[in-house]
Amino acid sequence: MKNLLNNLFVIIFVAVLLPGCTNQQKLNSADFVLMNGVIYTVDSVSSIKQAVAITGRKFVFVGSNSEVKAFIGEQTKVIDLQEKLVLPGFIDSHCHVISSYRYFFEVNLYGLKTTEEIQNKIREYIAANKDAKYVKGRGWSNTDFPKTGPDKKILDEVSTELPMSFSSEDGHSRWVNSKTLEIANITKKTITPDGGIIEHDKKTGEPTGTLRENAADLVSKVFPDYSVDQLITGIKAYQKMALAFGITTAHDAYLDSWSNEITAFRKMEKENMLSIRFRASLYVDSEKETEQINLLVKERNRNTGELFKTNGAKIFIDGVVEGGTAYLKQPYKHLPGSYGKLLWKIDDLNKVCSELDKNKFQIHVHSIGDAATSVALDVFAYAEKINGKRESRNMITHLQLVSPDDILRFKELGVAAIPQPYWFQKDDYYYNIQVPYLGQQRAGEEYPMKSFFDAGVVVASSSDYPVTIPCNPLRAIQIGITREKIGETNPSEVLWGDEKVTLKQMIRSFTINGAYANFLENSTGSIEKGKSADIIILNKNLFEVPPAEISTAKVLTTFFRGKEVYVDSSMAVSSK
Ligand SMILES: [Zn+2]
Repeated sequence: MKNLLNNLFVIIFVAVLLPGCTNQQKLNSADFVLMNGVIYTVDSVSSIKQAVAITGRKFVFVGSNSEVKAFIGEQTKVIDLQEKLVLPGFIDSHCHVISSYRYFFEVNLYGLKTTEEIQNKIREYIAANKDAKYVKGRGWSNTDFPKTGPDKKILDEVSTELPMSFSSEDGHSRWVNSKTLEIANITKKTITPDGGIIEHDKKTGEPTGTLRENAADLVSKVFPDYSVDQLITGIKAYQKMALAFGITTAHDAYLDSWSNEITAFRKMEKENMLSIRFRASLYVDSEKETEQINLLVKERNRNTGELFKTNGAKIFIDGVVEGGTAYLKQPYKHLPGSYGKLLWKIDDLNKVCSELDKNKFQIHVHSIGDAATSVALDVFAYAEKINGKRESRNMITHLQLVSPDDILRFKELGVAAIPQPYWFQKDDYYYNIQVPYLGQQRAGEEYPMKSFFDAGVVVASSSDYPVTIPCNPLRAIQIGITREKIGETNPSEVLWGDEKVTLKQMIRSFTINGAYANFLENSTGSIEKGKSADIIILNKNLFEVPPAEISTAKVLTTFFRGKEVYVDSSMAVSSK
C-alpha cells in the first residue's frame, strides 16, 4: 500500500531526470511536490494555482508549475495532479467525535422504521453478546414516534431483565425500558428535573420510557462509563471515516470535564495516534453557577497540545423542535400556548457567560429556536458590556429559526454562525414534524445561510455527526447550494430558495471560515505558504459539474500536516 499513490497518478522524478539541478535547488528540495493541478487555494482572493511544495508539515511554496520545479530534489515525491481539483482539508465546526464508540459499536437503530425491525435488531445484539449486562444504542427517530416518544413496552417485549437505553437520532431524548426505570427509581412520583421532560401515560401517570433533555441524565448512572480504550477505539474509527471525507479538523462540541473522553483525546495526542486536529468545547452545566468555571479553566489548561485543545464552553440554551423544547418567539402549532423551553434562568446565564468570557472561553451555544438565539445574542452583548470587547469568536450552532433582526447582531458581536447545511431540505422531519409543529410559514423559512453571508457574518459549516450520517462535506456543499434533498429535482421541494449560497461560499464555510471560527486561520483553512499542509485531491472539479453531482465526487487523497493520511482504495484497484 505504501506506494499506492504511485499507481494512481504519481510520477517520481529523480534528480537525474532533471538536468541542471543546482545546490541551491537541492537545498530547497521538498518532501512532496504536487503539480499540474487546479489548486483552489481559498486565500483572500480565492486564487487558483497549479502547484504546491510541501516540506515537513507545511507548504513551502504555492504557485506555478515552472516555479515549483526548484523544489524538486532527489528525495522529492512528485505527484502529477492531471488537472484535478485540490482544496484545503475540510473543517467540521460542530460534531460529536466522542460518540463514535457508540455509533460504531453499540446497537445502531438508524434508518429502522418499524417496531419489529427495532426489536429484531436488539435481539440480534443480545444473541451475539451473551455476556452483555445492559444494552445501549442510538438512532431512533422522532419522526417515527411523532406525538409522544416511543414506549418502554416495545423494549420490554425484548427484555425485562437487561437495562436498555437508546438515544434518539438527534441525541436529545432517551428511550428506556422498565428495568432501567426501576434501577434508576423513576416512578410517577419522580420530580421532573429543570430543563427536562419525563413523558407520562395519560391514564396511569406512569413514566412511558421517553426522557427528554435533562431528564435523560436520570438514568446515566445505570450504565457504566466507557473506558478510555473503548473511546480511543471509537475516535480511531471516526478518523478513518472522516479522513476519507477529507476532514482534517473537527470541533467536538460537547466534552465533559475530567472525563474518560478527554483522557482519551489527550492520550491519543501524546502517543501520536491523532491524524486529525481536534478542537473541543467543555460542557457547562445549567444546574451549577459560576463555581464550575474554575474547574473548566483547570481542564482547559490540561489540554494545550497542537492537535487537541478545549477552549470552548458549550451551553445548551434550548432543546429541539421535535421535542417541543426549542424556544420560540411564537407558540408551537401543535401545543397551543407553548413557546418551548429556555434551559437556563436568564440571570444564571448572564453570570456564567460573562465569567466564561472573562476567562477567555469561546462560548459555543446550541440554539434552535428564534427566541433562544435572541437570548444568546443578548447574553453575549451583556458579557461584552461587562468585560469589554475582545476577539471572543463565540459560536451559535443549528440556527433553525432566526429572527431577521438578529442576523446583523452576529456581525456586530463577532459571533460565528455554525449551521448544518445537511439539514437544508424538505425531508421526513420537515413534513412530519416541522410543518405540523411550526406551521407552513415558519417551516418554510428555516435555516438561513445566505443572509448570514450577506451580513458579513463568519459562517462555518458543520455536520453535528452522528446526528448527520454520513458526515461527508461534499453532500452538505451540494445541499447548501441546491437546498434540496440529494436526488430531488422537483423545484417545489426546494427549502427556502432565497437562502441558496454559492459553491465558493460553501467551500469557504468548510475551510477558511471554519479555521477562523476555531482560531486556526493562521495555520490551516487555506493553501498558502507557511500553513499546515492539509489538503484534499478530488476526482471531479466541483466548479465544472452541475451542483446536483457535487455529492458524487470523491476524495482521492487527504494530506494532513504534510502526510498522506488517506488514499482512496478503489482507485488502486481500477488503476494500472
Ligand atoms: Zn451537536
